[in-house]
Amino acid sequence: MVQRDERLVFVALGGNAFQSIGDRGTPEDYWRNALTAAEVIASIVEEGYRVVVTHGNGPQVGIVSEWMEHLKSKIPPQTLDIAGAMTQGWLGYLLTQAIHNTLADKGLLSRVKGAIAVVNRVAVRDDDPAWSNPTKFVGGWYTDESEVERLSKEKGWVFKKDPRGGWRRVVPSPDPYRNVEVDAVKTLLDSGWIVVASGGGGIPVVEMGGGRLVGREAVIDKDLAGEVLATELGAGHFIILTDVDGAYLSYGRDGAQKLGKVTVSQLEQYYREGHFPPGSMGPKVLACIRFIRHGGLRAAIGHLREGHDVVRGSKGTQVFPDV
Ligand code: ADP
Ligand code: MG
Repeated sequence: MVQRDERLVFVALGGNAFQSIGDRGTPEDYWRNALTAAEVIASIVEEGYRVVVTHGNGPQVGIVSEWMEHLKSKIPPQTLDIAGAMTQGWLGYLLTQAIHNTLADKGLLSRVKGAIAVVNRVAVRDDDPAWSNPTKFVGGWYTDESEVERLSKEKGWVFKKDPRGGWRRVVPSPDPYRNVEVDAVKTLLDSGWIVVASGGGGIPVVEMGGGRLVGREAVIDKDLAGEVLATELGAGHFIILTDVDGAYLSYGRDGAQKLGKVTVSQLEQYYREGHFPPGSMGPKVLACIRFIRHGGLRAAIGHLREGHDVVRGSKGTQVFPDV
């Protein structure tokens, strides 16, 4: 097992680091949300930790697909792996700029070189059962069921109901097992950068014979891909920041109960009981379980707004190894 670094924090940012409910998704919305995330990252740096950041891209990869769909008579549409790469540049720029400026404002640029985003591939397997069972939400929310039916027929898209309401397109989300650029991320980290990596779960590639890589049309879950990278880097802490203040039992039903401190075995039990649905809280909980089982010191799930306290361990769901 990789030696764990008590002073290395891996942070996974959810969709609300870019677009919150009620936002139209203007550049101003994106910058404002990225700055909220940047405040959290800067506070971790301020406490003397090194940081690696990943982020989701579900809404944005869906937006890029819609742009391509609308313009297809003029500009040939690109594939979903290329759309994923576009979102790494788009969101990587927002985050690195927001982090850089927040560090500058706090006088912390002497501690780190700044923030850098890596165009980053993540390996998945061709025999993954996920290819025939799409679960990953991408793009916007549809409320008109007849439009959902039309899009399913016209484009062959698959839709599912989002727990937050409305319908959203779903795409395959194969299980990641290796971060292709991990050595480069390590080199950047060791030379003083805050690294934004594995964005949107990474660009999905499969390993062919002779060391060749080929892109695949899917969206890897960013929490599961984040765990792979966090473990490969030997991070001590794995922190998932999202739009809910923790993992709940019986979420959305009477008697819903937020999990505070849990051991990995307890959490595995709840996971098996089906408290955490695929495509949202399920992969977050699974990523935390894997991180601890792979030797991590602590994993946590909490609200972005409470990010600092989640990192400190006083808010959110905090997951620890069995005692
Ligand atoms: P992100 O963009 O941060 O990855 P997701 O939408 O994938 O966010 O996951 C967060 C959502 O998971 C919450 O908004 C909440 O509606 C949903 N959710 C489903 N089950 C649970 C649960 N058991 N506890 C907490 N949140 C849950
Ligand atoms: Mg998610």
